[in-house]
Amino acid sequence: MAERLQGKVALISGGASGLGKAQATLYAQEGAAVLIGDVQEELGREVANSIAGSGGKAAFIGLDVTDADSWASAVSQAVTRFGKLTTLVNNAGIFHPGGIMDETKDGWDRMIAINQTGVFLGMKAAAPALLAAGNSSIVNISSLFGLMGSPGAISYHASKAAVRLLSKGAALEFAKQGIRVNTIFPGQIKTPILGDITPEQDAAIKAAIPMGDAGDPMDVAYASLYLASDEAKYVSGAELLVDGAWHAGQ
Ligand code: NAD
Repeated sequence: MAERLQGKVALISGGASGLGKAQATLYAQEGAAVLIGDVQEELGREVANSIAGSGGKAAFIGLDVTDADSWASAVSQAVTRFGKLTTLVNNAGIFHPGGIMDETKDGWDRMIAINQTGVFLGMKAAAPALLAAGNSSIVNISSLFGLMGSPGAISYHASKAAVRLLSKGAALEFAKQGIRVNTIFPGQIKTPILGDITPEQDAAIKAAIPMGDAGDPMDVAYASLYLASDEAKYVSGAELLVDGAWHAGQ
């Protein structure tokens, strides 16, 4: 087992699936204790059990990122179970299509509540424990769609663009207090959030991405590992794109 996160205790929202699962698995392989928080309880427990079965330190807690009390329980559980909290990964998120003409107020509210307010609530709930631990960090998962527009995903773009500056504001707020805050902007990564992609859509994605294909969850996990590790001790307020050079041509 490698040790790039030895001594770290990480709370990872949305850790039951996709990018969160990959980050939880890699963090644990690198020595961190990991608390997986998700609304998908069965899948989340499976991930925690699988990590523990391979000799890692992991547990699961039901977490709804839109709920401040739920965040308070998750932070308290991390500290009770693993002694402290050094690392928060705000990874949970949803996507649904819809432009100005067809997005509904309910759809907008749900997207903002999970993707944007969830990140604010997570940082707010975790900050006291992260400050107490010292040498801490937050990794927020935005999206390439937080940096560039497209037709037909209006509330997703708005929510992910907000995460970009939520991160920068927090990075400055905590710059002298031992919490680093960084953001990852994944392009198109093969996870369940993509839903059922048709062969036509798959071809369009391959055509749009300079490196020719969507990425793998581990591509994001390795970026997250670096930002969470002490190797990034002078890195805060940073934006790390993991997008197969997609944004380079925009
Ligand atoms: P995913 O659907 O596999 O995982 C998202 C997880 O978030 C799920 O386990 C889900 O249960 C959880 N979740 C949803 N609502 C929640 C809530 N209210 N409280 C707690 N957990 C909740 O998708 P993914 O691709 O792994 O997405 C992870 C993050 O990466 C998201 O923020 C997503 O927007 C972002 N992202 C993904 C891609 C991509 O192409 N896969 C690209 C850019 C950004």
